[in-house]
Amino acid sequence: MISKSSLIKNKKMSNLTWFGVGGFSKYYFQPSSEKELISFLQYNDLNLPIYPLGAGSNIIIRDQGFNGLIIHFNKLKEILIDEEGIITAYSGAMDADVARFARNHSREGLEFLIGIPGTIGGGIKMNSGAYGSEIKKILIDVTAINEKGKQKIFTVDDLKLDYRTNKLSQEWMFLKARFKSNSGSKDLIQRKMKEIIQSRKISQPIGQKTGGSTFMNGKDFKAWELIDNSGCRGLKNGGAIISHKHCNFIINQNNATAKDIETLGEIVRKKVFKKTGKKLKWEIKIIGD
Ligand SMILES: Cc1cc2nc3c(=O)[nH]c(=O)nc-3n(C[C@H](O)[C@H](O)[C@H](O)COP(=O)(O)OP(=O)(O)OC[C@H]3O[C@@H](n4cnc5c(N)ncnc54)[C@H](O)[C@@H]3O)c2cc1C
Repeated sequence: MISKSSLIKNKKMSNLTWFGVGGFSKYYFQPSSEKELISFLQYNDLNLPIYPLGAGSNIIIRDQGFNGLIIHFNKLKEILIDEEGIITAYSGAMDADVARFARNHSREGLEFLIGIPGTIGGGIKMNSGAYGSEIKKILIDVTAINEKGKQKIFTVDDLKLDYRTNKLSQEWMFLKARFKSNSGSKDLIQRKMKEIIQSRKISQPIGQKTGGSTFMNGKDFKAWELIDNSGCRGLKNGGAIISHKHCNFIINQNNATAKDIETLGEIVRKKVFKKTGKKLKWEIKIIGD
């Protein structure tokens, strides 16, 4: 049964992304349960492109909006553990909540998730990582669902996760995932998580409207170094600025539009290419018209 409030026509998206920008989505669906999602997909006759959304911490939705259907996974956020210590998290669970859940059950290995402000679904899509770990290292498998409501389990090897990418066809959205963990000391896990939080406060602009790292690192370069060496730290376009603190972060400093942000990114790419001959690749996903 689809509740009326779960499907919305012409939904404003700007307050659902960390950048705080973006136009309207033609349709927006926010399932409250797995059952509701499956039944919606099985009977969906909107015939529009579908785009899954997590916490919106790695995405720009353009100002003209998205002429499709956004499925927001944020209400599917249950986290469970079995007797072998395998943790199952639904894709809308926040990474930090999964880290805290693991700590509360004295399970180690998931501490790095405390500092990533996204959901499990977004984390798998991006193979998110920090502090020497990444989703690939802890993931066992993921249950995915396609546009027709069909479910399939993919192992971590099937996904071919690599630095901020996966090779699974776009058709699949992530529903829930199983993670391995080891038995550990709650105090040590807590200490490690605290260190991660402290270190992020020092190195990243916290509490700002941003999308995290804008460009991917290359095999032989760090994106922030190229950006810095090309004189882009603090560069502005409209209301958007390259962070002084971490120059691979773009900040919506002063009512920026999506266009301000995207254009600033493109200016940086051009300057970096001119100075270093390297082509930066967007890590942030950009959707819409
Ligand atoms: C301050 C800040 C710090 C950050 N630090 C880090 C960091 O240290 N390491 C790191 O890796 N990233 C970092 N990020 C980037 C971002 O938090 C991660 O990429 C995160 O995993 C994105 O998750 P999300 O739920 O916000 O995804 P969204 O931004 O909502 O979406 C990102 C992509 O994932 C897809 N997606 C989302 N949910 C699903 C689903 N259920 N099924 C299929 N696809 C889905 C979307 O379609 C989109 O393509 C940071 C971002 C910010 C703002």
